[in-house]
Order: sequence, then structure tokens, then C-alpha cells
Amino acid sequence: MNESNNSIEGLHELLSILQFIDVGLVVLDRDYQVSLWNSFMENHSGLSGSDVAGKCFFDIFPDVQEDWLRRKIDSVFHLKNRAFSAWKHHPFLTKFQSDRPITGSSEWMYQNFTAFPLANPRGEVDKVCLMIYDVTDIALREQAFQSANKQLEELSQIDGLTQLFNRRTWEGMLSMEYKRSGRSDLVSSVVMFDIDHFKQVNDTYGHQAGDEIIRMVAKTLRQQQRETDISGRYGGEEFGVILPDTNSEGALVFCERLRKAIEKSVTTFDGQEIPITISLGIAETHDNDGDHTKWLQHSDEALYQSKEGGRNMSKIFKHYDS
Ligand code: GH3
Ligand code: MG
Ligand code: MG
Repeated sequence: MNESNNSIEGLHELLSILQFIDVGLVVLDRDYQVSLWNSFMENHSGLSGSDVAGKCFFDIFPDVQEDWLRRKIDSVFHLKNRAFSAWKHHPFLTKFQSDRPITGSSEWMYQNFTAFPLANPRGEVDKVCLMIYDVTDIALREQAFQSANKQLEELSQIDGLTQLFNRRTWEGMLSMEYKRSGRSDLVSSVVMFDIDHFKQVNDTYGHQAGDEIIRMVAKTLRQQQRETDISGRYGGEEFGVILPDTNSEGALVFCERLRKAIEKSVTTFDGQEIPITISLGIAETHDNDGDHTKWLQHSDEALYQSKEGGRNMSKIFKHYDS
């Protein structure tokens, strides 16, 4: 008698805990009718347990995506497994207003939810329990973190791997140099270069070895350039160099020096020596370029000719009208 009193008391306590736990609890039968609704659900929906008892979940929350939820819950009934949904894929199950004090941070409560099967004494799954977690704080923190990261990336002018200027910054400088050079009597040159057969390097030695090579190329470039030259990482293994007040012949001297230095320097990775070469293209500023993009395009065309010519060489773009 005492023992059964104890277990009834225990059950009562358990029900109180479930009632007041800070997680939404809903039990649904196979027709999606509500048979349990705790105080979290009452507080956030404004509907009491007696308001919703026996009502279909989709009538209570017409905003819930019915197809999606049915697919999840049906699998719980059929497979007797848990189902889970995370805010990143689906921001919320039930549209509850967010009660966060910071206004404007989020109008709705972000939620994760788990659904698990409830078996009757005969072992048949005839109900499903939904547990709804308020994860608004986590979601807002993550979103703030991501947007801060994005802003930092946008503010940064430097490429992380090589410490050279990143593409956006370098192109901005190229545009300024194009305009500056147009006002001066001297021409300037731009060089684009690309590592030869780099896919093969990655495939043979691995991506990390590839990264090491890119770092080595950037280091050699810094050693070979003048203080006034401006280098940037244009893409994966493509680099750009602006040579102010330098004609294409002068740029060719620089390119050949750099090409030979890279050909000579050997990167050792995991005890293996990896030789590489680069191909380069040079273009001088020209009255007919129009803007810096055309100028850059010309150097890219010259680079293409170096690749076509057999790689490991430098070519100058020729303006046919000059
Ligand atoms: P080509 O001589 O014609 O230039 O041949 P390629 O194999 O170098 O061809 P391409 O320049 O088109 O290949 C670029 C490859 O560089 C593709 C990509 O796998 C690799 N890559 C791009 N960025 C990175 C990077 O940051 N790290 C590493 N390890 N590999 C990169
Ligand atoms: Mg390449
Ligand atoms: Mg490339």
C-alpha cells in the first residue's frame, strides 16, 4: 500500500515537472489530436489545455507547414524512431512571438524540436510526443557571429593564406593606378601569373602541399618585387602585380627574374620535394584600354599565350594598333 502511494506520489511529481519544464510538450494521437499540452505551450500560445484538448494540431496552428510535419511524424509512427528538426533548416515549428527584451532582434521564437514515439501497454505506438525547445538565444548569437565575421572579411584587405592584398583590394588599386598612369607621361604594367599544372600538384601531393606552394610563391614574389610594386592574390593560384611607371620591357625583366626564382626554389612537403613553375602575362597601359578591366584582360590574354606556348614563360600583350 505504502509502495503504491509512493509511486503515485512520484508520478504526480513527474507530471508537475513536465507541466512546468521550460520546454514545450505536446502529445498527439494518430489523428494529430492533442492529448497533452504543458504550461510552456499555454504561456506561448495563449491557449489553455482545455482549449486545445482533442483538437487537431493543424487547426490550432494553421501556419504550421503540414506536409513537412506530417512526413516527420508519420515516420515516427511507422519506424518507431525519433525525428528531429533544427532551427537552421526550419526556424520554428509553431509561430510563437519571441519574448526577448532586445527589441528588433527577432520577432519569432527560434525552435528545435524532437518527436518521439509513445507506446501503449500493448506495445503499440499510438501517440507521439513533441518536445519544442526555445533556441532563440543560440540562433541570435550565431547570426550575430556570422554577420560580424562577414563584416570583418569585408573590412579585411589581406588574403589569409598569402598575406598579399586580396582580390577586391588589389583590383581597387589597379583601378587607381590606371587613372594615375593616365595623367602621367610614363606607362605602367600589370602582370598576371598562374601556377602551372597546379591541379596535378594537389592531386599528387594533397591540398595542404598545394597551400604550402601558394605560400612559397607569395614569399618569392615579395622578395623579387620593388617596394612600389603592388601584389595581390587574384584567385586560387593566380596572382597579380602592378608595376607603376614600368613599361612592358621593364616588366619582362621582373617577370623573368620571378619566374626563374620560382623555378629554382623547391618546396619540401612531408619529405618530398615539389618543383613548380609559373606562366606570366604582361600588359602595358594603353590609351585605348578604356578602363582598368580591359588592361587586366590584356595581361590575362598574354598569360594565356604563355600557357599555350608551353608554360614556364612570360609573354607581353601586343596592341595591334601600336
Ligand atoms: P594550368 O597550367 O593550365 O594553369 O593548369 P592548372 O592545373 O594549374 O589549372 P588551373 O589554373 O585552372 O587550376 C587551378 C587549380 O588550383 C584548381 C584548384 O584545384 C587549385 N586551387 C585553387 N585554389 C587553391 C588553394 O587555395 N589551395 C590549393 N591547394 N589549391 C587551390
Ligand atoms: Mg594553374
Ligand atoms: Mg588558375
